[in-house]
Amino acid sequence: MAPLLADGRRFLIGDAGHLSSPIAGEGLNAALMDAADLAWKLAPVLRGRGRPLLLESYAIERRMADQHALTVSDLLHGNVMKLAKASASGLPLTPAQPDAERDLTLQRSRAMLDVSYAGSPLIGERLGEWIDRSDGPALGERYPDRLALAGPRHHLLLFAAAPANLTRFQARWDGLVEVVDARTAGLDAARAGVPEGGAVLIRPDGFIGFRAIPADTAGLDALTAHLATYLIEGGCAPMTAVTA
Ligand SMILES: Cc1cc2nc3c(=O)[nH]c(=O)nc-3n(C[C@H](O)[C@H](O)[C@H](O)COP(=O)(O)OP(=O)(O)OC[C@H]3O[C@@H](n4cnc5c(N)ncnc54)[C@H](O)[C@@H]3O)c2cc1C
Repeated sequence: MAPLLADGRRFLIGDAGHLSSPIAGEGLNAALMDAADLAWKLAPVLRGRGRPLLLESYAIERRMADQHALTVSDLLHGNVMKLAKASASGLPLTPAQPDAERDLTLQRSRAMLDVSYAGSPLIGERLGEWIDRSDGPALGERYPDRLALAGPRHHLLLFAAAPANLTRFQARWDGLVEVVDARTAGLDAARAGVPEGGAVLIRPDGFIGFRAIPADTAGLDALTAHLATYLIEGGCAPMTAVTA
């Protein structure tokens, strides 16, 4: 892992930032996730709607994810090497006992579906009351139904009646956040990590960026404060060309 994944306006993506064993087949996947992460962050900046924290978060978030990819890759590399060594020794190999839960966990790790950005400054929540933690995705994890949401913006899924300040919120974040009445859209609250209802912000990359439980005016105000740390409110300006 390179000591720095970003330095001001310069960013390392792919093997230049982190090198994994070819055996596990992780390198290109991690590189594409680096590129996707950087792309959605550059877009608001080029439109004059992104604050410095947005680009700074690239190195923070991708270091967490790429470190995880390297750990999984090292584990698989080690397993294959052990197998090769045992095989070369001529001793009989004993296959591992089937374990559905272990295998599913490993599959999710290999596919990088278990990446979490929890702890990133771009992740936040406002919990106004006790919640029942479900099996659904946690804050900072991937929202499994992202493909049901159109377009490259943030989406705010409301699993509750609209709070009184919703119109003001929409005007403020016009062009950056699309509000979805999740109940009429047929989305499952448990799969968004809020089985008992609430508001969930899905980032353009499909990760859960913020949760407000309940989805009331205070929750929406807290989300506005959170968004204001990395986005600039107001109308959407056309994209401008940037020179190096
Ligand atoms: C045998 C093998 C099997 C693999 N299998 C998988 C797999 O199944 N799944 C998976 O996800 N990943 C796999 N990988 C890893 C994957 O190939 C790499 O992670 C991926 O190619 C990284 O892409 P990159 O663009 O970051 O770097 P690269 O593909 O290395 O591209 C860098 C490019 O920059 C060029 N370059 C270097 N220096 C300069 C310079 N000074 N000026 C101009 N150009 C320069 C190089 O020539 C090269 O074309 C495998 C790797 C190997 C070796």
